[in-house]
Amino acid sequence: MDALICPECGEEAVGSLQTTDGEDEGLAEFDGLDEDGELNYTGNSSLYFTDGCYDSDDVTDEQGRLLLECPNGHQFPWIKAEA
Ligand SMILES: [Zn+2]
Repeated sequence: MDALICPECGEEAVGSLQTTDGEDEGLAEFDGLDEDGELNYTGNSSLYFTDGCYDSDDVTDEQGRLLLECPNGHQFPWIKAEA
């Protein structure tokens, strides 16, 4: 899906940025979009959880768009296709 392609290097995003309490950051991995156009998360995450807390929040830009990251570490907002 074009919406998941990094505008800087052309690689497909591998995860969405997550944070716990605004401190620890990591990636929630996905492998593309499902048939509903939603991110299909694999359940893997690179987040390092502290204090046994597994609650994490999506990281968004100032327009509320989910921030994605490509394999090269570029971050860009997910422009979700209209249903
Ligand atoms: Zn990139």
